[in-house]
Amino acid sequence: MIDGHCHLLPPELREPSSAAWKDRWFADCHAGVAPRFASGQDVLTALDSVGLERAVVFGWPFADPGLLREGNDYVASEVGGSGGRLVGFATVNPAKLGALQELRRCEGMGLKGLGELNCDAQGFGLAWEGGLRATLHSCQEVGWPVLLHASEPVGHTYAGKGTATPGRLWKLLQPMLADAPDLRLSLAHLGGGLPLYSNMPEVARICRSIWFDTAAVPYLYDTGVLPGLVSLLGSDRLCFGSDFPLLAPGRYSAHLAAMSEAEVGKWLHQGTEAWLGER
Ligand SMILES: [Zn+2]
Repeated sequence: MIDGHCHLLPPELREPSSAAWKDRWFADCHAGVAPRFASGQDVLTALDSVGLERAVVFGWPFADPGLLREGNDYVASEVGGSGGRLVGFATVNPAKLGALQELRRCEGMGLKGLGELNCDAQGFGLAWEGGLRATLHSCQEVGWPVLLHASEPVGHTYAGKGTATPGRLWKLLQPMLADAPDLRLSLAHLGGGLPLYSNMPEVARICRSIWFDTAAVPYLYDTGVLPGLVSLLGSDRLCFGSDFPLLAPGRYSAHLAAMSEAEVGKWLHQGTEAWLGER
């Protein structure tokens, strides 16, 4: 059983005097409350507390390639000491020169996917062109799964919500799936609600070609949302992701209890494994 969405941060970037806090999105998301940061061991402890076996871990979606590189180095070293329980993803900025070289460097360090990318935090366009197209094509070539942040167009505002809403994602996904049909893309945070439109046949077709993770769902939705999506999509398009250390995996128990045991098993195992390319 896998938690598909955990953020790590190198200890040297946690101090408010570090360069990380000059990144506007990072500073906004960590202002006002006691910030929570995680090491690889913190993730393993959280997994053990709820009986999960493995986790996908990645850094923070900084805009600056130097900070991203620091995060990728830390992820690779924490993955190396995890006895195979952590799967590391690279995070790059598709809008910056050198993104493809950094992907190759991360592949050499044993990382196995790309994410979480965030267009608001990193300043890239949500269009199938330029750096984003080249970066995702490169992931398709090497068989890497990709995780992209998404946001709800309605509801309460909060730090980190962003503008990657279903209407904008729709314009990206149609040309992307035509041009890169083997790319395994997951939209975080239930795709900002995109699959809730799956009674529209063309939306269902696109949604059944990608994946959606549950990160931050207890912050955003009541417990009816996951059973509703299972009936709309089929559960093998959902991936469990906690957004640790923002939310511990145990915070999802009420949402999991709203599903049958078979659905939870299928969801926890098969959706995430399929997205990762393990089945
Ligand atoms: Zn996110």
